[in-house]
Amino acid sequence: MKFCVLASGSKGNATWIQEGDEAILIDNGLSAKDLKARAKERGLLISKLRAVVVTHEHHDHVHGIGPLARQERLVVWATSQTVKAAGGALAKTLLKNFQVGQELTFGSLTISTIPTSHDAADPLAVVAQSKTARLGLVTDLGVVTHLVRESLKNLNALVVEFNHDLVKLIEGPYPFSVKQRVRGRMGHLSNEQGAELLTDICHPGLGQVVLGHISGTNNSPELALSAAGQALERLGHNATLLAADQRRPTPVFEL
Ligand SMILES: [Zn+2]
Ligand SMILES: [Zn+2]
Repeated sequence: MKFCVLASGSKGNATWIQEGDEAILIDNGLSAKDLKARAKERGLLISKLRAVVVTHEHHDHVHGIGPLARQERLVVWATSQTVKAAGGALAKTLLKNFQVGQELTFGSLTISTIPTSHDAADPLAVVAQSKTARLGLVTDLGVVTHLVRESLKNLNALVVEFNHDLVKLIEGPYPFSVKQRVRGRMGHLSNEQGAELLTDICHPGLGQVVLGHISGTNNSPELALSAAGQALERLGHNATLLAADQRRPTPVFEL
């Protein structure tokens, strides 16, 4: 399996996952043009792309799905509540419905969908499994539920939310109501909460950790990396750490 976080953050999210000749996207908050340019930059072929799996209807996750799916004839997998909540964002695409908790199969890739606590209609996290590798992707979480934590066991790679530094959020420019939303049970994970999740699910097979959905206002890659690094150091674990970026794709990781 290979994967690449093409973009991560409140201005757009998209992750490419490929097994053999079949690739899927988890979300697309980028314009079709931008997504194709980023894939090309990393040597990922759009002709391999089959489908988009939608985690939830927030603008930064669905904004670019419609145009891309229509241009490339991609199947869009979303729950009926997400489709409804997305308004027109998924209209006129080849839609297929599923229910959260269901497993989706794309060639030899299995995508497990796990319900999450986030302020969307029917939000989910995913775990991608091939014959030899297991990747978890959780980037919009209010709190880490028992089910999420259990689902992220035995991963080889993890893309995990390190949204905000709590002090920066509290002292930052956001209105009080937005601060409450971000740090609430249905908002986003702080560096501290992300590090706690990482600590809980860390095991010897976890080789690659990508920190995602890092706030440009209430966090920095340095603060997020430091929190995650300290957590791994305490465990004596040396997984490779990288902060995903809003503006450019990560390297392509081979698992
Ligand atoms: Zn988001
Ligand atoms: Zn969201």
